[in-house]
Amino acid sequence: MAEAVLVAGGAGFIGSHVSKLLHMKGYHPVVVDNFVRGHRWAVKWGSFVEGDLADTQQLMRVIRHHRIRAVMHFAAYAYVGESVAEPSMYYLNNVAGTLSLLEAMRDAGAERLIFSSSCTTYGEPRETPITEDHPQVPISPYGRSKLMVEQVLRDYEDAYGLRHVNLRYFNASGADPEGELGEVHDPETHLIPVVLDVALGRRPHVAVFGTDWNTPDGTCIRDYIHVSDLAEAHVLALEHLLAGGGSRSYNLSNGEGFSVLQVIEETRKITGRTVRAIEEPRRQGDPAALVGSSERIRRELGWEPRHPGLEAIIGSAWEWHRGFHT
Ligand code: UDP
Repeated sequence: MAEAVLVAGGAGFIGSHVSKLLHMKGYHPVVVDNFVRGHRWAVKWGSFVEGDLADTQQLMRVIRHHRIRAVMHFAAYAYVGESVAEPSMYYLNNVAGTLSLLEAMRDAGAERLIFSSSCTTYGEPRETPITEDHPQVPISPYGRSKLMVEQVLRDYEDAYGLRHVNLRYFNASGADPEGELGEVHDPETHLIPVVLDVALGRRPHVAVFGTDWNTPDGTCIRDYIHVSDLAEAHVLALEHLLAGGGSRSYNLSNGEGFSVLQVIEETRKITGRTVRAIEEPRRQGDPAALVGSSERIRRELGWEPRHPGLEAIIGSAWEWHRGFHT
């Protein structure tokens, strides 16, 4: 029988891509999602249960029913700006929601967790590229919510033996190269989908949040990583835990940064469309530059990004985006 894997938040951008890959690799994804940010159309593989992280009893039943040994946890809010304005949303869902999931796992005997963490846990970088040993001093409620969970997981491992892998994503982007899935958030605030909306005439312009950062062109630099590469890393982390491997934290990044203006320019090139950009003040909670080293997961689990570079990332996102209509 196929190994069942609970995918909390499997209707979201990254969770849905991972569910597809799990299915392709012979696992049975069991998606739990409340559709607050996820999409029904994105649930196409394995089993599905509509539910909320806060419902510990329901999660327990699902884990028992499918004899689940490993859980992947994507069910979180992930907007830096929103977290500054609405911290209670972030702590309730991202922290309290995770505690509920952990209770269900403990009670039902699922002892392995792959946790979607974030480069925002590092805060303002002291050196670049950022390694996993860099101090974690987040500067937004979103980043703090992710770090809090990492700290909880450490304590749960010591006390209850919960083995876990923290995957610290840099900027998840791109879309399924087969065109079945892509990035659609409501509201959409992520740079690449916003810029693609402008290229399609669905928005009048993109606001560039700050042009006075201490970077070569004055705009923020991020390390964009293709969602299919993220998905591969989750399966490697799962195999590591199922084979008895110990708890680890890994960066998922390409090691190369691109500025907001470079993303806009590359989008103009790929789409051949006009993209109007206007300058706006800095967005609260944003560090100037985030570029990560993923040497550790490359060395230890053999992960290798197959879609590095802006062209593959924006190109696949464009193919998806232009065909998607709400
Ligand atoms: N950004 C921007 N305009 C937008 C959206 C984002 O200038 O409409 C910038 C943002 O300040 C950050 C980068 O683009 O420096 C990536 O932001 P995004 O929200 O995509 O991801 P984050 O880095 O917050 O996870």
